[in-house]
Amino acid sequence: MSRSPYQRYSWQSEIFECASHDIDRFMALLDEECQRLNLKQRVLGKVEGQPLLLLQSPNASAGLPSILISSGFHGEEAAGPWGLLHFLSGVSPEIFERVNLSLLPLNNPTGFIKGHRFNIFGENPNRGYLAGVDDAKPTIEGKILLEHGQLLQAASKDGILTCHEDVLQTHTYLYSFEPRQQPGAFSQQLLGALAESFDVAMDADIDGCPVNNGFIFNHFDSSFEAWLVRSGAKVGACSETPATQNFDRRILANSAVMQRFVDFTLAQ
Ligand SMILES: [Zn+2]
Repeated sequence: MSRSPYQRYSWQSEIFECASHDIDRFMALLDEECQRLNLKQRVLGKVEGQPLLLLQSPNASAGLPSILISSGFHGEEAAGPWGLLHFLSGVSPEIFERVNLSLLPLNNPTGFIKGHRFNIFGENPNRGYLAGVDDAKPTIEGKILLEHGQLLQAASKDGILTCHEDVLQTHTYLYSFEPRQQPGAFSQQLLGALAESFDVAMDADIDGCPVNNGFIFNHFDSSFEAWLVRSGAKVGACSETPATQNFDRRILANSAVMQRFVDFTLAQ
């Protein structure tokens, strides 16, 4: 089986009382959280009139760890952005005294609206960041992010988490990056958060990568997360929730893995 870049998916969320592709409701609720938390909002660029937003701690401090959470690179992987919104709703402002938090909530808005994987130009927005790995060129979204490369590298200095889903899977798994030979505490803790909602994938090949104990470890493709790790992020992860499962459960699992990422960072 392989993924169709244009197959459209839509799920209903009981938590947010809307359909997964309802970008107007998503942006309105996101704006409410930004106001409540006094997050700095920056429009990095626009795709077909839709902003690529970077949200950041109100007052970044040089002495604090800096981590980046991103979601919504693939339009049909909707529990990532909604999970980010759910995660934000549980954040209290005091956290910004302990961590410089940056968020890229929705990196493929045109795909999100359609509920399909690629952007409306038929490109994969999670390829083309790391040069020399494959033939992929940066997409319109990738160019916008790469134009802000130094900003994003600084924002992810102590870690990058990007939240994806897999529409073909019933089980969860994690791409992770750590400067060691085997998955360590960082990888284990993040997979542990996902495993509270879903069974972990059996050892197999997924998208040509061997999964071992739920991990695809230190796999450098031309993805956004691989690029940031190569650029100096201490650790990195790409979570994969199984999109054959209930949508709200996936939202809660995405929210939980984001919270675990923050908790791990604070414990360092
Ligand atoms: Zn994806």
